[in-house]
Amino acid sequence: MSYPIAPGGLAAVLAHPDDESFACAGSLAVAHAAGATTRLLVATRGEAGTPDGMPDQSFGDTREAELICAARTIGLDEVSLLDGYADGGIADQPFDVLVEEIAAWLAERRPSAVITFGPHGVTGHPDHIVIGSATRWAVERLAESGIAPNAVYVISPIFDPGANLYDLSPEEQAATHRIEITGFADRKLAALECHASQTDTAEQIAALRAAIDSGDPIFEGYQRVRPIVPAPHPVFDTALL
Ligand SMILES: [Zn+2]
Repeated sequence: MSYPIAPGGLAAVLAHPDDESFACAGSLAVAHAAGATTRLLVATRGEAGTPDGMPDQSFGDTREAELICAARTIGLDEVSLLDGYADGGIADQPFDVLVEEIAAWLAERRPSAVITFGPHGVTGHPDHIVIGSATRWAVERLAESGIAPNAVYVISPIFDPGANLYDLSPEEQAATHRIEITGFADRKLAALECHASQTDTAEQIAALRAAIDSGDPIFEGYQRVRPIVPAPHPVFDTALL
């Protein structure tokens, strides 16, 4: 399969529609504006994001449309969905098949850097943890063929850059890279608003709107896990590519 857009750039591999918006929309928008190819692979259609949590395939159509809305808002060059993974049930499928599918997707596109979830999955959602783990295994598989991306990052949100480091969660403490997204925060906000079926985004939208109104710089945080950055890492790096 060939693609009309350039290889390289920045790719995110995530679990659900809306993960991209809360997790890394700002950094993807920054990369796109700088001319990098930006791509997203999502494992599920989010069909269990209904108010009662009961899977509904037509609701999955709604969430897929919301994902496309967010992708256009962020400025993604390509969005792919895996087939056959249930929202809330990624771990029910054979792990080695998932690794193989992610590796094949990456091998065809050869991104320079990959973003995925870390071992805490930001929210602890099992789908986040499994997709992050599978993505890292997929990269090791590519490394055996000499085509691993240059860098792998896991999402390490920094909710309050001014907070005492000891008050931060393990994922926040682990951040090695802090990407300033102030100029793209309005796009991240609009991307979150695309996911109108998800009422739990309201809190994130309110927090981001308050951050924008404050006039302070806004960041997304990441930990580079490949090649690993030795800890402690007192000064944040400021670019993913
Ligand atoms: Zn999710």
